[in-house]
Amino acid sequence: MRILIAEDDFTSRAMLAAVLRKSGHEVLEAGNGAEAWEMLQQPQAPKLVIVDWMMPELDGLELVRLVRSLPTDHPPYLIMLTAKGEKADIITGLDAGANDYLGKPFDPGELRARVEVGSRMIEMQAALIASREALVHQATRDPLTGMFNRRAILDHLDKELAHARRHGELLAVGMCDIDHFKRINDTHGHQTGDEVLCSLTQIFKHSLRQHDTVGRMGGEEFLVVSTMQAGADCRLPFDRIRQLVADSRIATRSGDLAITLSIGVALAGSGATVDTLLEASDLALYRAKGAGRNRVVLAQDQEDTPISLPGEDAP
Ligand code: GH3
Ligand code: MG
Ligand code: MG
Ligand code: MG
Repeated sequence: MRILIAEDDFTSRAMLAAVLRKSGHEVLEAGNGAEAWEMLQQPQAPKLVIVDWMMPELDGLELVRLVRSLPTDHPPYLIMLTAKGEKADIITGLDAGANDYLGKPFDPGELRARVEVGSRMIEMQAALIASREALVHQATRDPLTGMFNRRAILDHLDKELAHARRHGELLAVGMCDIDHFKRINDTHGHQTGDEVLCSLTQIFKHSLRQHDTVGRMGGEEFLVVSTMQAGADCRLPFDRIRQLVADSRIATRSGDLAITLSIGVALAGSGATVDTLLEASDLALYRAKGAGRNRVVLAQDQEDTPISLPGEDAP
């Protein structure tokens, strides 16, 4: 465990450090509260801190209060070190946010035991955070492809809509649907179909720009949310994806396969909502299919022309 000792008294600090190092801990030292505060704001700050109460510049109580005011998911475990034995002082320290306290002069056995308790708390907290993050990940991912699931991409769209409105950015969504996907399943089997879906995920991953996000809406349908500078050609990112997919050979257990995408694009106007965008892009997709597939079509009221040269229908 990496432990920070904030203690102005050199002898006391050296003794604390010696005991902790002997127990196998990595020890960092600060000679006053301000120095400790500086260290605790670093990204890889120690998670366990022994804080002396009386220190120049910034005393232990103030340091504890400052640390607790930091917004963080991983708050450090704070042990106050104090010659003040009065109950009222201990209560003040704990109220300020200390997790534990240790009387001065310290007893090495007690120090080791209290640090051990702190380490266990920190480990438990890390495990809880990891499992919470795993749950969030699971709840937002599509199990087959690992990309955002329907709920996650729609949540993202909702947030991006608000953001684009505030910043006057252009936001477009593209509903992408694999052409004649059923034929792949029927001809080569469902597992090959699944491989195609996973490969397509990789193509999306490599072709999308930083401001594009994709999620699987279900089946062989994917939603791309794209934000761009006002005035940009909103069709470009979608046509790039379409072209890239059409040019790719997808390696599967049944050999290399070719697929194409039809994409219906809708731009977010002033009154746009998630629902109106989905509806408009769905209608545009429907028209892209009707016009021969392998193309990008903008929503009707936005621009009624397919932007891709009519490509060959998918095999
Ligand atoms: P279109 O060009 O009109 O989109 O034709 P299509 O065959 O792609 O569309 P249709 O809606 O008729 O069929 C979609 C197929 O996608 C049917 C279903 O079996 C398949 N599908 C949906 N989800 C999965 C999946 O997770 N894995 C596999 N392998 N196939 C899936
Ligand atoms: Mg002191
Ligand atoms: Mg399809
Ligand atoms: Mg479909």
